[in-house]
Formats: sequence, structure tokens, C-alpha cells
Amino acid sequence: MSATASSVASLTVEQVRKGLDAREFSAVDLAQSALEFAQAANPKTNAYLLFSPERAVEAAKRVDRMLAAGEDPGPLAGVPIAVKDVIVTKGVRTTCGSRLLERYIPPYDATAVTRLERAGGVIIGKTNCDEFAMGSSNENSAFGPVRNPWAADRVSGGSSGGSAAAVAQGTAVVALGSDTGGSVRQPASFCGVVGVTPTYGRVSRYGLVAFASSLDHIGTFGRTVADAALLLQAVAGRDECDATSAFAPVPDYRAQLDGNVRGLKIGLPREYFEGLASETGDLIMKGVDALRGLGCEIREISLPATKYAVACYYIIATAEASSNLARYDGVRYTTRAEAETLSDMYRSTRGAGFGAECKRRIMLGTYVLSHGYYDAYYLKAQKVRALIADDFRKAFAEVDAIVTPVSPSPAFKIGEKIDDPLEMYLSDIYTITGDLAGIPCMSVPCGKTAAGLPVGMQILTKHFDEAGMFRLAEAFERRVVGCGL
Ligand code: GLN
Repeated sequence: MSATASSVASLTVEQVRKGLDAREFSAVDLAQSALEFAQAANPKTNAYLLFSPERAVEAAKRVDRMLAAGEDPGPLAGVPIAVKDVIVTKGVRTTCGSRLLERYIPPYDATAVTRLERAGGVIIGKTNCDEFAMGSSNENSAFGPVRNPWAADRVSGGSSGGSAAAVAQGTAVVALGSDTGGSVRQPASFCGVVGVTPTYGRVSRYGLVAFASSLDHIGTFGRTVADAALLLQAVAGRDECDATSAFAPVPDYRAQLDGNVRGLKIGLPREYFEGLASETGDLIMKGVDALRGLGCEIREISLPATKYAVACYYIIATAEASSNLARYDGVRYTTRAEAETLSDMYRSTRGAGFGAECKRRIMLGTYVLSHGYYDAYYLKAQKVRALIADDFRKAFAEVDAIVTPVSPSPAFKIGEKIDDPLEMYLSDIYTITGDLAGIPCMSVPCGKTAAGLPVGMQILTKHFDEAGMFRLAEAFERRVVGCGL
């Protein structure tokens, strides 16, 4: 029997393996039906910018060959995977959602890509995102927004909106995204899937196109906690190609999913719940009740530096972005504009290539780094960042995990916030603190509003305690039925 499109949409990593082992379908069957399904479903959401059938079939054939030879093809054997288009893939176009890189074919693979293929994963395509991962709605992509699979007039969230929508639609079983200030958790929340941002340095950034290097993380999406954890496990760990990747050993995450969370102390930070009298707030509080029902002890805590987080993030992120984006000058990588002089060529290439949000951030970032303002803005923001990290350190001396909303509201309408960048920035309030502190954090589905829009609950734990975070999230997932489309 071959895998059908509808079966792809509901499979987990474990079920893929069972199907392969029982010879219900081959990895090539599955890759082909996933590709067919993804191509047919794409006009609804615009989640994929490109499909990679040759690469997918080649990877799937390798899995089938190994299975036939009685070898173990790895923990992601035959699993159809989508990869955010800010993660480079050798020979497969990587655009970062930008006109500037419309024709860029990378000469190498990101470490995360190499590792997931080594684990037997099958990359079926590259997903849409905000340009250079800058945005909270996917509306900053040069190739059009990603529509929310639950409501076509709403955003999928950003910047990893394509990966979140692909997993929600079931066109991929799991997906890679990137998170600098919430870009995995917020779209996961908006699309009703699990989204994980690990500890900074847990996953190599080699081959992740840089936005704000001290904040950039590769993260994972799945329809279940176990799936997102398995993908993370496959890509995590020290990599010689990224000096900031951590030496910390990667535990067996699946072995931790024992549902035993009785007696865990959960902190609810006061600052995240003030003024959250909304449907989102009600759903999160129901989620908290469910945690109480699992035997967790709930405590109120305080993270007082939270009020500075948005300002701090938008100074550090834009400063680093202005420096990282300087490389797109028309000499390498990019589409080059014709001009008489070199400086005119730079100007025209960058002027025509970057979208409005990138330009805004380059200007802001250049300003906060400029002579006379560096101390007042950039240096000050770095000090505030230390305070934010310190708040978490103190909190984790008292509690095992922290629970908060992911976003103040569910998915908003396409066009609703795009002309008000400040309002868009403010909607990142609950997610950017985790990135600034570099701690693991994730979004787990926690129900839907009356209008049927998913809402995610955020769980944060201390550095390198992804295992504890997954244990809590999975126990919660068993209790609260997820958001299957
Ligand atoms: N929304 C945030 C921003 O626009 C976060 C983006 C991200 O995490 N890549 O910067």
C-alpha cells in the first residue's frame, strides 16, 4: 500500500517509522505523496516558496535502501520536513523572503540541514518567511504573506509563518524555523502547532542567515511535543563550524516524556498577566488550571525588567541587523543593479532589493551604533539585557518552569498592523524576553477562541533544560487536546 496525501497530514514521526517498518509504504511513496499534497495545498496559504522534489526523492531512496539492507536509517527516517528559507540548502535556492536573494543558490548546507538528513529526514521544500526573518506576521515577505490555515484572512504569524502553516496543514510532519524574538513560538501559537526555541547555542547557527547573531536560534515545529523534540534532538549539539554552539550533551528527550510533573513548581510572572483580560488570557488561565490538575504547584513570581524588553530588543536586534545586512551590497550573493559608480551600484542594489522593514531596521540600527549614541542606546540596552537575564536566573531558583501567554492576541487580520510598526513590535512583548535571556522556551497549543483561532501557551525553563520543558509540555498536551485542523 502506498501512503496517501491524507495519511501524510496526520502522521507523526513515530507513525512514519512504523509504516516504513511494516512496509505499508516506502519512503519514496511518502515523499511523493507529501510533495503532491503540499503543492496542491499551497495556494491556500503560500507557505512554501519552493519545493525540492529531486532532493526529497534522493533522501527518501537512501532511507529505502538502508531499510532494505537491514540498516537503521535514523530517528527521522522518511519524515517529510519543511525548512524555513533563511536556512541554506546546497544547490537549492534560498531567498530569505527577499528580492535581493531571489536567485541565490547556496554552495553549502547549514549544519542543521546536514544533520536532519543524516537522521533520515526528507526535505520537501523551503518555507516562506518575513524578509530576513524581520517581522511578526509574515507580511514582510517579498513573495506575499502566508495565510493562516485556520482563517485565510488572517496572518500565520511571523517570521516563520510558512513553517508553522506547513505543519498545521499537515504538508510536512515537522519543520525548521528560526527565532530571534519569537519567530517560532508566535506563529506556532497562531497556527495551533508546537514551536520550540532551544537554549542559545543548543543548535548550530552555521548556515542560518544572520539577522541578529546574539539572538538568532534555529527552532523546531511539530504537531506534537514529541515530534518537535525529536527534530530538535537530531539537529542539536556542538558544531565546530559555529563557535557559539554549546558543548553540553544532548539528552534523550523522548525518554523524559513520562507525564510525571507532580510537585513541579510553576511560576506565573505578574508582569505578563497584567491587563490580559481577554479570550487569550482566559484560555491561558484554563491551561494553568490544567497544570494544577496535573499536580503542579502554581506560584506568582515577578520579572520586573520585563517592561524594558521591547525597547531593549529593538535596539540590540536592529544594531546587529544593520551590521549583518551590510554584506548584501551587490558584489556577492545578490542581484546587482547596474550603475555608473561603485557607490551608486551599492545604493541602487540595496535601494531596490530591501523591503521597507529591512530599511527601517538598517537605519535604526545604524543610528543606535553611531558615534555619540552608542553608549546611550546600544550599551545601555546590553546592560538592560543583563537585568532581564538576571530576573530569570532568580526566578529559576524558586520555580522549575515559567508559564505565560505567547502573544497578547490570536492571529490578527492581514493588513491590520502592517502600517503601524510600533504596534507590531509591541505584540512581541511575551516572546522576546526568552531570546534576550537565551533560555529554552516553547509554545504549546492550549485551545481555541470562540471564533476558532488557536492560542498557544508559553513554557520557559532554565538554560539547557529543554528536557524539563518537554516533559511539562507533553503532560499538558495529553491533558488538553491539541488543535488538529
Ligand atoms: N517579531 C520579531 C522581529 O520582528 C521577531 C523576529 C524573529 O524572531 N525572527 O524582530
